[in-house]
Order: sequence, then structure tokens, then C-alpha cells
Amino acid sequence: MEVQSPQLPPLQPGTLYLVATPIGNLEDITLRALRVLRECDVVAAEDTRRSGQLLKHFGISKPLLSYFQFNEAKRSEEIIERLRRGEKVALVTDAGSPGISDPGERVVRAAIGGGLRVEAVAGPCALVAALTASGLPTEEFHFVGFLPHKSGQRRNQLEALRPAGGTLVFYESPYRIEKLLGELNEVYPGRDVVLARELSKKFEEFLRGKPAELLAVAQKRSLKGEFVVLVGPEVREKKAVTLPTI
Ligand code: SAM
Repeated sequence: MEVQSPQLPPLQPGTLYLVATPIGNLEDITLRALRVLRECDVVAAEDTRRSGQLLKHFGISKPLLSYFQFNEAKRSEEIIERLRRGEKVALVTDAGSPGISDPGERVVRAAIGGGLRVEAVAGPCALVAALTASGLPTEEFHFVGFLPHKSGQRRNQLEALRPAGGTLVFYESPYRIEKLLGELNEVYPGRDVVLARELSKKFEEFLRGKPAELLAVAQKRSLKGEFVVLVGPEVREKKAVTLPTI
């Protein structure tokens, strides 16, 4: 692996930089993220107030442009215009990697479609942090993100995931964590489940068990905070191999 020297060339004009930001612990910001945020022309942010605070924490002052779910289409056009003029645009979301259960995909596609340059400034992502520390298989996994809110649709999606290989990874809000564990208990009662709670924060914890065991914990403790829920693959019982006799 070639390690780049810290004397990196200046940012490239007309580039969209997808900048990952901390998911809890501010120490997780990368040196490259800070440089891009410092040297870009404008920061497109899911929540300008929140990202403004992050920039302030790192002593960075930049014009901010709001870019969130409900103005994505309009703002994407504006961002593309800026890129065409040669601006360097950094896109950040409230936490973690843009485009992962967060706005980003639309403007990325528009930029690529317009022949513009897109760079990911990789860094924190709850999915990766949870999966790698879960102890569940990492070789193959299926990222689901948030399930729909409606019970029937959730159930159908969980059922539809049955043939998926490897570990299933969900994002879930604290208000529906008990509901999800109940659903997992019905659909995947025998699988290993890991709840990764409050990653990189003071009360980070990993809870491991079968869905019924974790449901009992959730009912007893009323779990709070942010969660990634991981479901291990189905463990098929190994058939006894009968060796041929000579
Ligand atoms: N883009 C982000 C990323 O790269 O992980 C995810 C954004 S999504 C709107 C927010 C969800 O990510 C939360 O509801 C939770 O499921 C998960 N998440 C974010 N930060 C987390 C943390 N510190 N601990 C556990 N889960 C977290």
C-alpha cells in the first residue's frame, strides 16, 4: 500500500467531496476531512446549524448551503452549477458518511452524469463500526438501513431478506428498537443478534444474544440512544459426513 505524504496537492476545482464526519466522538474526524472543510468553497450540509457547530469546534468558518431530503432535487442542480463554475463543494450530513441512510446519492449521480469529479473523504460510518466490532461474519453482509415504518411492510422486508447471505445490518431509532427485536424474534428466532448502541460515545455498548434474550433486556432497561442492529446468518446444522468405506 502506498502511503501518501502529508504534503498533498490542493483540492481540485470542480470536485464534489463527500466528507464523513464523527458519529459521536469528535476525535474521529480525519485530518483529510478537516483539510477539505478548510479549503473548500462551500459546505453543503443536511443541517446547517449542526454542521456549523462542528465547523466552529474545529475553528473553520465556511459558507453553508442546506442540502436535505426535501430540497435535494433543487439543491443538487445548484451544487452542479457551482461545480461547473469550478467550485470545490464539500457535502456533509449530521453524522457519518454522506449517502448512507443520509442525503447524498442524488447529487453524486447528477455530478457523475455531468462528467464532474466526485471524491469520498472516507471516515466514520456506524455500519462499519458496528459490523467490525460485532463478532458476526464480516466477509459478506447486507446493509438494509432503516426498515419502513408500517408493520406489514417491515415484516415483508424481513421475510424477503431470508435468502440474503452473511450478516444483515439495520439502522433503527430508539423508539422502534423493541418493535424490531420482537419482529426478529418472530422471523429469525434462532439467529445471533448484536445491538451496537451509542458507538464511539461515552455509553457505547454491545449487547449480544438471541432476539428473545435481547427483547427481554430491552423491555427491562428501555434502551436509549442510537442503534445499529446486526443479525447473524442462519447457521445450518452440518450433516454428518459419512466417509466411504473401502
Ligand atoms: N450516515 C450515517 C452513517 O454513516 O452511519 C447514518 C445516518 S442515519 C440518519 C442515523 C442512524 O445511524 C441512527 O439512527 C443509527 O441507527 C445509526 N447511528 C448513527 N450514529 C450511531 C452511533 N453513534 N451508534 C449507533 N448507531 C448510530
